[in-house]
Amino acid sequence: VALCKAEEAPPACSAPCVVESRFNWKLFWHFLRPHLLLLGAAIVLALGAALVNVQIPLLLGQLVEIVAKYTREHMGSFMSESRRVSTHLLLLYGIQGLLTFGYLVLLSHIGERMAVDMRKALFNNLLRQDIAFFDAKKTGQLVSRLTTDVQEFKSSFKLVISQGLRSCTQVAGCLVSLSMLSPRLTLLLAITTPILMGVGTLMGSSLRRLSRQCQEQIARATGVADEALGNVRTVRAFAMEQREEERYGAELEDCRCKAEELGRGIAAFQGLSNIAFNCMVLGTLFIGGSLVAGQQLTGGDLMSFLVASQTVQRSMASLSVLFGQVVRGLSAGARVFEYMALSPCIPLSGGSCIPSTQLRGAVTFENVSFSYPCRPGFEVLTDFTLTLPPGKIVALVGQSGGGKTTVASLLERFYDPTAGVVTLDGYDLRTLDPSWLRGQVVGFISQEPVLFGTTIMENIRFGKVDASDEEVYAAAREANAHEFISSFPEGYNTIVGERGATLSGGQKQRLAIARALIKQPTVLILDEATSALDAESEQVVQEALDRASAGRTVLVIAHRLSTVRAAHHIIVMAKGQVWEAGTHEELVKKGGLYAELIRRQALDAPPTATAH
Ligand code: ADP
Ligand code: MG
Repeated sequence: VALCKAEEAPPACSAPCVVESRFNWKLFWHFLRPHLLLLGAAIVLALGAALVNVQIPLLLGQLVEIVAKYTREHMGSFMSESRRVSTHLLLLYGIQGLLTFGYLVLLSHIGERMAVDMRKALFNNLLRQDIAFFDAKKTGQLVSRLTTDVQEFKSSFKLVISQGLRSCTQVAGCLVSLSMLSPRLTLLLAITTPILMGVGTLMGSSLRRLSRQCQEQIARATGVADEALGNVRTVRAFAMEQREEERYGAELEDCRCKAEELGRGIAAFQGLSNIAFNCMVLGTLFIGGSLVAGQQLTGGDLMSFLVASQTVQRSMASLSVLFGQVVRGLSAGARVFEYMALSPCIPLSGGSCIPSTQLRGAVTFENVSFSYPCRPGFEVLTDFTLTLPPGKIVALVGQSGGGKTTVASLLERFYDPTAGVVTLDGYDLRTLDPSWLRGQVVGFISQEPVLFGTTIMENIRFGKVDASDEEVYAAAREANAHEFISSFPEGYNTIVGERGATLSGGQKQRLAIARALIKQPTVLILDEATSALDAESEQVVQEALDRASAGRTVLVIAHRLSTVRAAHHIIVMAKGQVWEAGTHEELVKKGGLYAELIRRQALDAPPTATAH
């Protein structure tokens, strides 16, 4: 048999791939590298702006000196003498503004591009993860890595380059000018500033802890609102609006308490730091003034000193804020990069495919044992053996929770068996290309069809991206859906609402059938496809399913036994194994588990027709 080798399938790993969540510098470099040139330019501009800022206090001092001279002497023209310094200052202000504009524009350019690249790469890799990965993770958390964490990382990155670079340069530059202006005053500053900074940092860290708690509380409140709004139908059906309101209200109340505490903390911090800064100014003026009085310092130099020391203090304050931001940014980045580096055990594609002319659609499960990766100790299938002959209908029945859906998941290769093999036409599924298998061979229709919030046309075309309109109509006809679709004013362009909320269960199911049929699957899995429907729509759907089953290998999973009577072969599952097998008549005659199930369902009165 000729197999077309698409791509070497990477070896399947069975252990969950663990990557510790440290900041991944290599990946960061990967995203940064395309922007290095612009980043270099931004850094140069930021440095330039900082150096200009260092010049400004000195010139201001000169200006003050001129002013002081005129208050003393009133001779000559103030205008002409101050013009030189003033124009110089104006020029510097202009340059400073331009440089700031330049590096901020460059940084936002780089930051936004990196954020888009990171989001794309992360989304890409998330979509490639194993189903087992999604069993263990909350969707909300994954989405927040795509949104909040990338956002946080981006702003930290921008802040580090802009503020960090600028503040460091300004601190260094101003310290040099300070010590040239007055070594004695500088020494004084060098003693008091670190003490104040230390106190400030201590207060700051407790504020940060409070802020984190606040964030967590907000997230909890959002979670409550999200759940209630997302499941509004259930909430309405149980008349639980009041209770949900109360729950949300209580969480909000907690938010308020925490936020107010934070607000008080910030207020105290601001108040105290204002006092500290003002005292520093006063102290500098007082001591510097006495130096001026003793002719050891000019008034202009004192002015320069004041402005420069303010610049130092402001820069150091922003550096301490920046430090917290860097810590947060690194952990956000670590969260973003964690799932980017994670590789799935079952690849999306790669492996061989069977040419369509040779594909028969014979499926076997050979001594398959399986437990879900997130519940390793609990064996769902034990030594399970099953054959689906090509073109035949096999029914799988058994109690709820018996592992029937698990069999379907293994056939879709959402998971790999723990032991044993699943084969298609004699080939181990693990050697076949999974995207070919899922996209072209296996059609899956489940009890709870999930539609996307777009048009009916697009929803059906989800089964085959390049399907023509004609193919969509044909699939809809085959699925008994064309009629009701045409009856809508917008026809195939009707938007179905989020998850298909604007359609009835039977209509949704028929769209799901059309979506599965459009890819002309060789193997069809019907997992309790009609069990959520009322009797009337069950009949329409069943009709569509019967038509769809003709000539295909079909696995019908059902607990309602009326739907499996037509199957060529019936398998009864119990304890993760095949308990008994045969045709309906054989099994009834045998008087085993199947006969028992039949008897119990007969007692359950005729199939209940729920009125809609
Ligand atoms: P059935 O379709 O026959 O009702 P399932 O195949 O859905 O049964 O489930 C079989 C067993 O596997 C159940 O005990 C169920 O709790 C467990 N199970 C189903 N899905 C998962 C999952 N994603 N992760 C862990 N356990 C699961
Ligand atoms: Mg099931």
